[in-house]
Amino acid sequence: MAIERTLSIIKPDATNRNLTGKINAKFEEAGLRIVAQKRIHLTKEQAGKFYAVHAERPFYDELCEFMASAPVVAQVLEGEGAIAKNREVMGATNPADAEAGTIRAEFAESVGENSVHGSDAPETAAEEISFFFAGIEIVG
Ligand code: ADP
Ligand code: MG
Repeated sequence: MAIERTLSIIKPDATNRNLTGKINAKFEEAGLRIVAQKRIHLTKEQAGKFYAVHAERPFYDELCEFMASAPVVAQVLEGEGAIAKNREVMGATNPADAEAGTIRAEFAESVGENSVHGSDAPETAAEEISFFFAGIEIVG
């Protein structure tokens, strides 16, 4: 399988509870390498731009408020099949459906406040990485 890069975000519910290290340990244990990382506090407008694909969904406003409510940690994860592997480590969107041992099963508070974001395909991964990082900031 090819080496890929994917965009991950540790969300405000997790940074509020000081879970960055525990979540990063899950990525590293799964063979994903953190090749870029920064802690930032998004504005609601920036969160809205990042999640523009969900603009028509009923939870969009709540999602943007939440993502701007506290700092997040944006990161690029690299590894074999990194996009799918990260989705596996994250678990299902709703923690009630997430498999035991996944980040969302262990840490998520609700379907909205679910601790992590991960890109879902190669095209979105490339777009989302460039939303947060310049090429010079990604060091494999
Ligand atoms: P995922 O993050 O697993 O890719 P989606 O892309 O479908 O899930 O949704 C993006 C984010 O929107 C979710 O991670 C979650 O924070 C929020 N969200 C999704 N569905 C709901 C919902 N039914 N109610 C509230 N928030 C939701
Ligand atoms: Mg998604």
